[in-house]
Amino acid sequence: MAANPFSVPVWQPTSTAAWRQNRADGSTGADVLVIGAGFAGLSTALALARSGKSVIVLEAAQVGQGASGLNGGQVIPGLKYDPEWLTAHFGEAQAAPIIDFVASTADSVFDLTEREQLAVPVVRQGWIYAANTDKAMTLAHERNRQWKARGADVDLLDAAEIQRLTGTQTYVGGWLDRRAGTINPLAFVNELARLATENGALILEGVRVNVLRRGNDRWEAATEKGLFRAPFVVLATNAYTDGLVPDLARSLVPLHSFQLATEPLPEDLGRLVLPHGQAVSDSRRILVYYRKSPDGRLVLGGRGRMGIPRSEEDWNHLHRAMLRLYPFLQNIRIERRWYGRVGMTPDHMPHIHEPEPGLLTLVGCQGRGVGMMTAIGACFARYIETGDRAALPFPVTPIRPIPFHRFRQIGIAAAITSYRLLDALEK
Ligand SMILES: Cc1cc2nc3c(=O)[nH]c(=O)nc-3n(C[C@H](O)[C@H](O)[C@H](O)COP(=O)(O)OP(=O)(O)OC[C@H]3O[C@@H](n4cnc5c(N)ncnc54)[C@H](O)[C@@H]3O)c2cc1C
Repeated sequence: MAANPFSVPVWQPTSTAAWRQNRADGSTGADVLVIGAGFAGLSTALALARSGKSVIVLEAAQVGQGASGLNGGQVIPGLKYDPEWLTAHFGEAQAAPIIDFVASTADSVFDLTEREQLAVPVVRQGWIYAANTDKAMTLAHERNRQWKARGADVDLLDAAEIQRLTGTQTYVGGWLDRRAGTINPLAFVNELARLATENGALILEGVRVNVLRRGNDRWEAATEKGLFRAPFVVLATNAYTDGLVPDLARSLVPLHSFQLATEPLPEDLGRLVLPHGQAVSDSRRILVYYRKSPDGRLVLGGRGRMGIPRSEEDWNHLHRAMLRLYPFLQNIRIERRWYGRVGMTPDHMPHIHEPEPGLLTLVGCQGRGVGMMTAIGACFARYIETGDRAALPFPVTPIRPIPFHRFRQIGIAAAITSYRLLDALEK
């Protein structure tokens, strides 16, 4: 990933990253090779190392330079789909554990940060699905009914209540999911790296795997720093997936999500913006999501151009969205702008594949990856230890390349433009 001069994230790790000094003991063989040091790769490595497996993590860039260190830090359980859709789609028996799993993904992050006393700023005040239209409010009612029936700590918000929680008059109502919260994602991914290292995993940064092939009795990962070997490989490269596994990159569409962060808000204005610490995603087709950072900035994100940013103006649509929500922030400086890749699958589900024995891959997160990828990593470790597919939270499926993949991105760019128009017309 070449550095982009316009993209400077707001997140800074809170720990000293001293784990980096434990590195490079010259090992090139392990029980498991993990490719990609984001939430998925590192939580897999952590759980495997804890169970006594030797693990080497190979990361092309640095820990957290993929989506895991760049995201909005909203830790939201669930999927795009609600429980009844999952039941209809998978059938009662298969859906029940999936529903339990997706309900618990935020817990997996908060439990870990608390149990391990991680140096990660955490606010667990919930996430709001903010309804811009009456149609979206109908969906909020449905979600509320379905999750409440399963005992989740959720509630509907009327127009007055959502205004009190967000500080904006934009919404007709919404839905509060108290299982959710916010973290500093870069701090979290670095703390995962520290824990994994302390438990014996070896994390090598700046080591891109160029070729992955099956040797006689083990997998071989060829890098510029030499050949690494293991009987089992976990490919956790998600939206940054390249050509290591045939067709995998063509089975998802990597979209760009752009974010900006204001300067720390002065106290009088800070009190008016998300005064109770919730995170928000709105209901528009091209949604906007936002939260406050631990140092009092408004951090707001949404879809961005498909190409890499060419100037600060590529974030202007988000600045306009912010001022629509909070017109009184017009004199507040935008101090940071950055972007990263989100892996979208056509069916909006995370995809687990095992294209060959001993090779496990994971792609797709649809913007819920903080909890989802962290939680799946622990399941991967259980599967590798036991060989029992019941340890995996989603069915293992064949890799299905998207037809006309190259043109898909152009199509998506066109769709984004027309969705923006529709969103504007509905306002
Ligand atoms: C701007 C943005 C905002 C988001 N906001 C949220 C949010 O608020 N809440 C939420 O839940 N989710 C959010 N997401 C999604 C979430 O960040 C991701 O789902 C999650 O971080 C994916 O984690 P991962 O470990 O699967 O992949 P990544 O963190 O992307 O890690 C993949 C790693 O693989 C490495 N890699 C790739 N190819 C190779 C190779 N050949 N050799 C070695 N290494 C390789 C990459 O360098 C990268 O570090 C957001 C994403 C973005 C981009």
